[in-house]
Amino acid sequence: MDYSVLVDLVQTCKACPLGVKGVGVPGAWFKEGSRSSESASGGVMVIAEAPGAIEQDQGWPMVGSSGDLLHAMLNEVGLNQYFVTNVVKHRPWVIRGKQQPPDSVAIRACSPYLDLELDLILPTRLILLGKTAAKLALPGNISIAKEVGTPVEYRGLPTLILYHPAYFLHNRTSRWVNKQMKDWKKAVRVFMGERPAEYKVKEVKCEIHN
Ligand code: URA
Repeated sequence: MDYSVLVDLVQTCKACPLGVKGVGVPGAWFKEGSRSSESASGGVMVIAEAPGAIEQDQGWPMVGSSGDLLHAMLNEVGLNQYFVTNVVKHRPWVIRGKQQPPDSVAIRACSPYLDLELDLILPTRLILLGKTAAKLALPGNISIAKEVGTPVEYRGLPTLILYHPAYFLHNRTSRWVNKQMKDWKKAVRVFMGERPAEYKVKEVKCEIHN
């Protein structure tokens, strides 16, 4: 299947009740923080949850404030080109002004699209953002706090589970979140093959016990 056929299928999807929201939002390539029309295969695929209001409106994933933070953090650690998509391709329901996590009906309806994206893009590494995406690799009732930074395997690929950047936006001022953001970036660096700094101690002589 050609990638443009998949884009068309996602954009016109009415497979679940969220289809009333408008066009479905397919995945897209990003280069140096901006959406790129270059399509490529291989590389890193980032899987987030579902479009927010801006993504639903514009028809592209991660182009709102959590997307801006995602691209800034990835670019900061030297990851400048990657494919971004969502588990669910339409914006989930909003209750009392708060966007809900996608329900199992929407997740099930969208799963063939995510499978096709994986088959066509052929990524070599996956980054899963937040609980909805993490459950792809670790189904069941997981605690995201326990899983972040953990390398796992999904579809036979090295896969890293991380907090969704939206989480940092809502908690930005706390020192704990600043530390989490530092750890987030370090986990990506290590995942991408950059070894953490090692300081080799050649010999330590203890003056008391020597
Ligand atoms: N925008 C997206 O495209 N996905 C998310 O998970 C959040 C915002």
